[in-house]
Amino acid sequence: MDPVTKALDELHRRISGLKGGEVASYIPKLAQADPEDFGIAITSMGGRRYQAGKADIEFTIQSVSKPFVYALALTDLGPDEMLRRVGAEPSGEAFNAISLEPGTGRPANPMVNAGAIATTALVSAADSEARSARILDCLSAFAGRRLGYDEEVCASEAATGDRNRALAYLMRSAGSLSDDPYAVTATYFRQCSVLVTAADLAVMAATLANGGRNPVTGEQVVERGVAVRTLAVMATCGMYDGAGEWLLNVGLPAKSGVSGGLIAVGPGRFGVAVYSPPLDLVGNSVRGVAALTVMSERLSLHLMHAPVHLTATVTDTGHGARSSCVRSAEQTALLNCSSGRIIAVGAQGELEFTETEQLLGAVEGAVPASPGWLVLDLMAVTGIRPGSAAMLAAGLADIARRGHRIVVAAQEPFLAAGDGHPDGHSDWRAFGSRDDAVAWCEDQLLAGEPSAGPPAAGGGS
Ligand code: GLN
Repeated sequence: MDPVTKALDELHRRISGLKGGEVASYIPKLAQADPEDFGIAITSMGGRRYQAGKADIEFTIQSVSKPFVYALALTDLGPDEMLRRVGAEPSGEAFNAISLEPGTGRPANPMVNAGAIATTALVSAADSEARSARILDCLSAFAGRRLGYDEEVCASEAATGDRNRALAYLMRSAGSLSDDPYAVTATYFRQCSVLVTAADLAVMAATLANGGRNPVTGEQVVERGVAVRTLAVMATCGMYDGAGEWLLNVGLPAKSGVSGGLIAVGPGRFGVAVYSPPLDLVGNSVRGVAALTVMSERLSLHLMHAPVHLTATVTDTGHGARSSCVRSAEQTALLNCSSGRIIAVGAQGELEFTETEQLLGAVEGAVPASPGWLVLDLMAVTGIRPGSAAMLAAGLADIARRGHRIVVAAQEPFLAAGDGHPDGHSDWRAFGSRDDAVAWCEDQLLAGEPSAGPPAAGGGS
């Protein structure tokens, strides 16, 4: 057994003994769920799938559909219009509360029923049937397989769904819902009765974790920006009235549903799902919350944990960098006694703000007071964020203004992205290897070229 499955198995065993909570009964068909059913599943960013317990039994998705349908409507409307129609504030109330903004009737957020019904109505379609079809297609693309409905649960909810209809009629009278309330709630009930397994939900959650691309099928289901906004709403509103405590204890974007499903997302890491029908007082799966609390603590998944920098950014800083060029005895002697004039600083990995700030600090510490040659070796850098490239360019421009010649060794794409200056002139020369870069500096030094020299009067600051 692989170590991830083993850990899930152990977690499953530890949590299965947990009793307490009530299976939802306000939708009569849901009351028939077996309170002992319990499954956990994880999907990694590499699309690998792990599970323990009953992760393959089907149940209706219920409110766990809400973030995915929100992502669909957001794709149709764009962020500004979406926010104008449905808010993003935690309601602090139960899932089926009348949480409408006084004055506008705008629902508080898309993760509680009022906002979810309004969101369903915002999915573009010619009629209800086409809207249901688009929603099913979207949920299926997130899951990576064709999903179907539980018609009995759908009928059971429709037969007892007056409160949801009342919410829809209220929104219509307040002007925040333009469609026919009866038809919209019917579409919403259909969306809630889509059948999934915990294993499906883990893939759906992993798709959000992976910037909207399903890591199993490779399909880009929604744009990255849509996935980010969806996760943000899940983080603040996904756990109903328990959202604040959840963010405190578990610290992950999540969504729960009344049938006992629960998803949580580790952005850039994985999607996880639990199925266990007994719910706590705010409507979240008791075992789901317990399992995720343990998992988050054990694996340090809380979003507010500062990221750990596993590798050092600066690999070396040194005076007297030398190339492999064959030099005469005289040249060698000259290079030896000018060893402090050519210095090299090497970096590796991804350059984001923290890494770039570290690198610039190391460069500052290494360049001598009198002008010389700085070789910045970025050959082992794997990525530079646009903001970091600008920061690096500004830092190097400053060093160039103090009279140093800057020579950068980097791979092609970074040279194209980073070589340049806001005023159009380049502050450094670029080479495809450190050796070539150092050799150029040696040639300059041997030819008696001064380094860039002191800044012209009035130039620089
Ligand atoms: N279909 C359910 C309802 O609207 C979904 C609610 C939930 O899962 N919390 O009542």
